[in-house]
Amino acid sequence: MTALMPIPGFIDPVPVPRPAAPDDARPDLVGLSREAIMAGLAAAGMEPRHAKLRAKQIWHQIYNRGARDFDAMSDIAKPHRAWLAERFVIARPEIVEHLVSTDGTRKWLLRTPDGNDYEMVFIPDADRGTLCVSSQIGCTLNCSFCHTGTMRLVRNLTAGEIVGQVMLARDTLGEWPNPADRQIANFGPEGRMLSNIVMMGMGEPLYNFDNVRDALKIVMDGDGLGLSRRRITLSTSGVVPMMARAGAEIGVNLAVSLHAVTKEVRDEIVPLNRKYGIEELLGACADYPGANNARRITFEYVMLKDKNDSDEDARELVRLLRKYKLPAKVNLIPFNPWPGADYECSTPERVARFSEIVFEGGISAPIRRPRGRDIMAACGQLKSASEKKSRAELDRLADQKQAALDHHVPA
Ligand code: SAH
Ligand code: SF4
Repeated sequence: MTALMPIPGFIDPVPVPRPAAPDDARPDLVGLSREAIMAGLAAAGMEPRHAKLRAKQIWHQIYNRGARDFDAMSDIAKPHRAWLAERFVIARPEIVEHLVSTDGTRKWLLRTPDGNDYEMVFIPDADRGTLCVSSQIGCTLNCSFCHTGTMRLVRNLTAGEIVGQVMLARDTLGEWPNPADRQIANFGPEGRMLSNIVMMGMGEPLYNFDNVRDALKIVMDGDGLGLSRRRITLSTSGVVPMMARAGAEIGVNLAVSLHAVTKEVRDEIVPLNRKYGIEELLGACADYPGANNARRITFEYVMLKDKNDSDEDARELVRLLRKYKLPAKVNLIPFNPWPGADYECSTPERVARFSEIVFEGGISAPIRRPRGRDIMAACGQLKSASEKKSRAELDRLADQKQAALDHHVPA
């Protein structure tokens, strides 16, 4: 049994489950809609009139109860469970590393069946627990301050791999409704619940739209994982043509990685700006459905020393957000340095002054706290470290607190 709260100063590698046999050809049902499960059952030979009811039961068991095999499905007769187990699996992402920070932040390095690694982070807070989920392996967008941007895009994650991250986190935290499924016995009132999801891991979610939408639909389904859309935030670097669809077809909270207020600087640090400029992006934000004071849009702003952090920048930010009458909140993210990065983080005084100016402009601008510094809990860092280093070196790196600041904590 692993205690949820870590021992201070101790980085706790959690025992990892073995992956399913690599030569297993049975299809995985995780990530499929009710209709797709039904079609799969029918294709495997089940009579269509039975397949519909079965699909509904299996859906409920997989996504609502957290069943990891058919034997756990007590509402299905035993011979039918065996029939299903011969033909299908209910898989989880393979865990390569699972680290728990002294501040309770958890980070997983996960591996796809075709051998690609990606990351997931869980951040416990007093009033919430936030899971930071990846949408792609690598990214096409090359933002100059982002470590994931230095990796080429290997491929999109599937809907199953995206919703699978949330399911794996529920496994670890013991948060399925059935207490028999709990892996952490002492999960108690002092523990933290997985209450929020942010699509802020590796990749650009709006460049993997269909899979992100399908996965989040399962997460939001009342008979699925049952998380309210108000507790889910999708972060985009500004893929303008997809924003209206995101609002209409997913409808979660929107976060926009603005990071700069002039064309010159944003062209440099978020190169997508050359395609969709600041004004066009803010226009799309103004049109985002449900954007009102109750559901403000979050603007992420990474604080880069002498690059985007002047008083003029702060004032221009206020002017732009006001011009578009945006119900906005600004998240100031201290830059999280990584080896080889061309930038430094602004000084704490500069960040505080910037925040003050935006506040004085009538817009909330909290500064995100760094989290999980000892386990490299920033996007892309664990993956690259594990590619380059042995496990022992990885531990040493973590001990040295190589990664300074986490950027995943939503305010
Ligand atoms: N691709 C999406 C979502 C993933 S990145 C996007 O860009 O919005 C999540 C957030 O972390 C983005 O705001 C991103 O700009 C920020 N980020 C990336 N690297 C960072 C770093 N080294 N320091 C601080 N924030 C960073
Ligand atoms: Fe991709 Fe987002 Fe990183 Fe830019 S900040 S490179 S869009 S993951």
